[in-house]
Amino acid sequence: MRTDIQSILNKLGIKAENAAFSTGSIWGGDSNSKSIESFSPVDGKIIASAKVATSADYDAVVKKSQEAFNYWRTIPAPKRGDIVRQFGDALRVNKDTLGTLVSYEMGKSLQEGFGEVQEMIDICDFAVGLSRQLYGLTMHSERPNHRMYEQWHPLGIVGIISAFNFPVAVWSWNTALALVCGNVCIWKPSEKTPLTAVACQHIIAKVFKENDVPEGVCNLIVGDREVGELMANDGRVALISATGSTRMGKAVGAAVGARLGKSLLELGGNNAIIISEHADLDMSLIGAVFGAVGTAGQRCTSTRRLIIHEAVYDAFAAKLVKAYVQLRIGDPLDQNNHVGPLIDKDAVSSYLDSIEKCKDEGGKFLVEGGVLEGEAYTSGCYVKPCIAEVKNDFKIVQHETFAPILYLIKYKTLDEAIALQNGVPQGLSSAIMTLNLREAEQFLSFQGSDCGIANVNIGTSGAEIGGAFGGEKETGGGRESGSDAWRAYMRRQTNTINYSNTLPLAQGIKFDL
Ligand code: NAD
Repeated sequence: MRTDIQSILNKLGIKAENAAFSTGSIWGGDSNSKSIESFSPVDGKIIASAKVATSADYDAVVKKSQEAFNYWRTIPAPKRGDIVRQFGDALRVNKDTLGTLVSYEMGKSLQEGFGEVQEMIDICDFAVGLSRQLYGLTMHSERPNHRMYEQWHPLGIVGIISAFNFPVAVWSWNTALALVCGNVCIWKPSEKTPLTAVACQHIIAKVFKENDVPEGVCNLIVGDREVGELMANDGRVALISATGSTRMGKAVGAAVGARLGKSLLELGGNNAIIISEHADLDMSLIGAVFGAVGTAGQRCTSTRRLIIHEAVYDAFAAKLVKAYVQLRIGDPLDQNNHVGPLIDKDAVSSYLDSIEKCKDEGGKFLVEGGVLEGEAYTSGCYVKPCIAEVKNDFKIVQHETFAPILYLIKYKTLDEAIALQNGVPQGLSSAIMTLNLREAEQFLSFQGSDCGIANVNIGTSGAEIGGAFGGEKETGGGRESGSDAWRAYMRRQTNTINYSNTLPLAQGIKFDL
C-alpha cells in the first residue's frame, strides 16, 4: 500500500509554511532566502521545500530565545517536567504519523521509524522523573558553623545540531533534558531531513501554546552547514550539542572551544562485535546482521567490523553469507523488507568508492555490493549490503563509511581481538558474543573495550535511553540521554554559607585587621 504522504503531512499540521525558522507557533524568515528540498530516498520524490535561515533570521531567533529563557528558568523544574510529560503524550498520539514521515523522509524501515518516536516518548518519561531529581551534593565545611553545598542552574540557550540518520530522536534526547533543566533550545536539524523537524516543532509548539508558554522556548532554524556555523561561533549559545560526522565535530568543537563555550559531541563510530569461539552463533548471527544492515548501515552504532575467532570463522562466515542472500531490499514502508535505501546519491557514491578502495587494499568480497536498478529502486539510493574479508589496518577499515559494508577480521587470542576492536580512531559501541564469563569480564574491564558502549551478547546497535549514550576518541566524548547526562545541560555552583559570628578563612589563614 502506497503511503498517502499528503494526508500524513496534513495530520501533522504541516502546511506549506515554507519558513526558515519557528520560535513556537510563529513561523518566519526571509522569503528571498534560498530553499532546501526534502527528497525522499524511498521513491526519489521531492516531498516539500523549506527556506534556509539567513543570519538575520538566526539573530532574531536568538534574541527571542534570550527573552524566553528569562521566563522559562523561573518555572519550577517539576512544572517544566509536566509540560514535557504533555509533549510525550502528544508524541504518543502522533506516533504513527510522525514515525511514517521519518521512514519516508529518511528511508529507515517503518518499524524503526516508529521505534524512533518511541525513543522520544521514553526520553520524555525519563525527563519527567528527572525534573524532581536534579540533585546536588551537600559537603561538610572545614570551618565551624558553615554549610557547604552545590546546586545546578540552567545554562541558557542550548543549540542542537542534528544528523539525518536519527532525524527526530536525537533532538528529543537533548530537548527533553534541556527543558527540564530550565534551558531554551534552538534546533538546527539536518538539511537532509527538514520536514520531520517541522513536524516535531508543530507538535511541541501546540503543547506550549496550551500551557500559555511564550514563544521562543523551543526554536527551529532550517539550514545547512552555514547556519550550524553561526551557532557554533555564537557566544550567546551556552552549549552546542552536535551530532554528526567526526569532520563536523572537529569544526564545531574548535569553534566552540575558541570561545570557551561548552560542547557535547556525538560523532562517528566504527563499531565491532567480537565473535568468540564460545559464542552462541545463532544468536550472534541475528546481532551481527541487524547491526550491519539495519537502517541500511546508517546508524552511528551500526556494526562495521566482525572480529571472529579462527575456530568458528569459516562456519560463521558461511552463516552470514546465507543470511545475506535472504535479505529483502526495497521500500522501507513495506514491512516485508529488511533493508531500505541510503539517504541520497552522495551516500551511494561514497559506498561505491569504499568498496573500490577496499578491493584496492586487498579486501576479498564474500558478498558483492552494487546499486540496485529497476522499477522498485527508481530513487537510485538502494544498494546491496556486502561483506568483505579485510585486515583491520586497511585505511578504508579505519574510516566510517555510512553504508552496509561489513568487514570480517580473524583472530586467535582474546587479547588480540580486543586490540583489534580498539585499533581504530573511533570509540562508540562495541560488543562481544561469548558464553564464557572470563572473556566477558575481560572485555568489560579497563583492559577491555575502550568504547563508550560495551555489550555482552547484544550487538552494537540499539541502545536504551536509560543509559548515558556516547563514545570516546574521535566519537567526541559526549554523553546524552540517560544516567547523569543531564549535568551537561546545567552549570554547577558551589555555595558556602557562614552562620557563625566570625569570618574564619579556609586553610586556617589568618587575616586580622
Ligand atoms: P554531518 O556531519 O554531515 O551533518 C550533521 C549536522 O551537522 C548537520 O545538521 C549539518 O548541517 C551540520 N554541520 C555540518 N558541518 C558543520 C559545521 N562545520 N558547523 C556546524 N554544523 C555543521 O553528518 P550526517 O551525514 O548528517 O550524519 C551521519 C554522521 O553522524 C555519521 O558520522 C554518524 O556516525 C554520526 N552520528 C553520530 C551519532 C552519535 O550519537 N554518536 C548519532 C547519529 C549520527
